[in-house]
Amino acid sequence: MRTCVFLDLDDTILQTRPKCPPGEPLSPAADDRNGRPLSFMTERQRALLSLLSAAGTVIPTTARNLDAYRRVRLAFTDLAVLDFGGVILRPDGTPEPDWDASIRPRALEMGPELHTELHAVQQFIDARRLEINARLIADFDMPLYLVLKHPAGNVAALQTVLREHWGGIDPQRFFIHCNGNNLSLVPRFLGKERAVQHIRAHLLGTEPVLTIGVGDSVSDAPFLAACDYALLPRDCQLAAHPLSPRG
Ligand SMILES: [Mg+2]
Repeated sequence: MRTCVFLDLDDTILQTRPKCPPGEPLSPAADDRNGRPLSFMTERQRALLSLLSAAGTVIPTTARNLDAYRRVRLAFTDLAVLDFGGVILRPDGTPEPDWDASIRPRALEMGPELHTELHAVQQFIDARRLEINARLIADFDMPLYLVLKHPAGNVAALQTVLREHWGGIDPQRFFIHCNGNNLSLVPRFLGKERAVQHIRAHLLGTEPVLTIGVGDSVSDAPFLAACDYALLPRDCQLAAHPLSPRG
């Protein structure tokens, strides 16, 4: 039976140096915008990726947009899920058209609201002097989601935004991804699980397929729950959380 592995990247198969276990050999796995290594893999992570690649088709399933995905040094050759499910990238580097046709109108409609919210959260950050970087992530000319990071990794500052500014966000319209130094506000029409379900339903052929999901964050739970089996790194955020199709 064909096997298909939906693989989250950051903090699952690679991570920044401060998150790497001390004293272990590391190899560069993704670069920053200046081409310098930013994220690394342990030998165990290399071994896991080899195991999964030998077992079947590995489909990266990530919040990275195309630009950030291109900075990952790993040679994936099949589909990729980008932007929390906003884009299904084909091996030739183009968006899968049926999925694009489903997402694009909703992204363009949501765009003004995301720009407004970016401005509002920036005002909150400035008023509190939180020194957080807030960005709107776009891909293939679609505004998709907001991401906040603190340049010095001050997670408490992000928690202040989450508690005091985004605490009242409408859960019917947005979900929050919050793990370490990454706080994202994501429209509900996105979601890795939606892209995974589209791939399962339309892009894997008609033969039965064994699906395995691999991820670390609470926001990965719905896509892991959409797979036959789920695999988590030890001690990750999701390890203390029940798998739920709603996240
Ligand atoms: Mg992750």
